[in-house]
Amino acid sequence: MQNQISQAVDKHRDDIVNTYTDLHAIPEWGYQEFKTAAYIKAQLKEAGISVRDVTETGFIAELKGTEDGPTVGLRADIDALPYKNEAGETYYVHACGHDAHATIGLWTIRTLKELNLIRKGNIQVIFQPAEELLTGAKTMIEAGAGNDLDELYGLHLRPIHDARLGQAASALLHNSSGAAEVTFSGRAAHGSRPHLGVNAIDAAAMATLGINCLWANPIDSWSAKVTKIAGGGIATNIIPDRAVITIDMRGQDNKTMDEILSKVKTACKHGAAAVGAEAEIKLLSMVPTSSYTPETMANLEAAISAVLGSDNLLEPIPTSGGDDFHEFKVAYPELKTAFLCLGADLTPGLHDPTMTFDKEALFIGTKILALAIAQRLS
Ligand SMILES: [Zn+2]
Repeated sequence: MQNQISQAVDKHRDDIVNTYTDLHAIPEWGYQEFKTAAYIKAQLKEAGISVRDVTETGFIAELKGTEDGPTVGLRADIDALPYKNEAGETYYVHACGHDAHATIGLWTIRTLKELNLIRKGNIQVIFQPAEELLTGAKTMIEAGAGNDLDELYGLHLRPIHDARLGQAASALLHNSSGAAEVTFSGRAAHGSRPHLGVNAIDAAAMATLGINCLWANPIDSWSAKVTKIAGGGIATNIIPDRAVITIDMRGQDNKTMDEILSKVKTACKHGAAAVGAEAEIKLLSMVPTSSYTPETMANLEAAISAVLGSDNLLEPIPTSGGDDFHEFKVAYPELKTAFLCLGADLTPGLHDPTMTFDKEALFIGTKILALAIAQRLS
């Protein structure tokens, strides 16, 4: 089966690169992936694969076998990142490789269809918007995506420091990460009469100190830090009534993150109260930690070893980044998951607008995922 898949993918090398080049040329920000979605859907239609819309720009491509079996999902994110040029204008770049993920997702299901490899159960490729906003997965789940899945695979190109081209792993160990913005409200007064006002900067400083003094178990990896502080205005003789801080939080697991978030809230509320101000806490983002299943990891590892040789199967790769892929596991705790970390000689790094990688990775990723899914459904 592996030879059959490899030959089919190699036969389409030019087509696969064309798909990538076309998607790379139409980078779009989260929830604005209209051209991207239309392009992928047209390709699926041409290949005779059925498509189900889930959200405005999120959709599922599906292939069904003739016999009963599990429903296996593959999640491919499709959004790009915004940058500003020197004139201050916004432009978009596929600097996180989601164009590659979409290409691999599309060609995985096309290969399985072409070779007629889905005998039992069915495969769903979930084309997901807005991963960079870390809310796309949740939006898809709220609209019903994932509720009929038994297994779900994710994928991400890895920077050259994590894996070389021709190497891969079955798990990317994400920490939980979150960001919050806190607005402190006090009372403005003349600088000569501070006792008549409530200085919002004092409240922000008290909260910052409280955050710097909080603890979780040092055995677990975690951190919480203030990443922005803003308050005051043009005049130096006004007691400011408003200050804003942002906080970045990291936690090894979801339980640690819950504890940190609760302590951060306490530090802000009571720090503000200590000077007579009020704190309003807005959670900007919160991504759960990774959690994978031995069974699906073993399936993916077998496919990696078959395509690349067992010497090129790497250990799970730790990263301090986050991915909203894990929202699926939070929503459906029984879901079995694994995550393909795909070596691509990617330089200089993800989210760098000059990011580039070896396109050979497109073929390797398609071969591995088509085989991993065929192993389950043939
Ligand atoms: Zn990404």
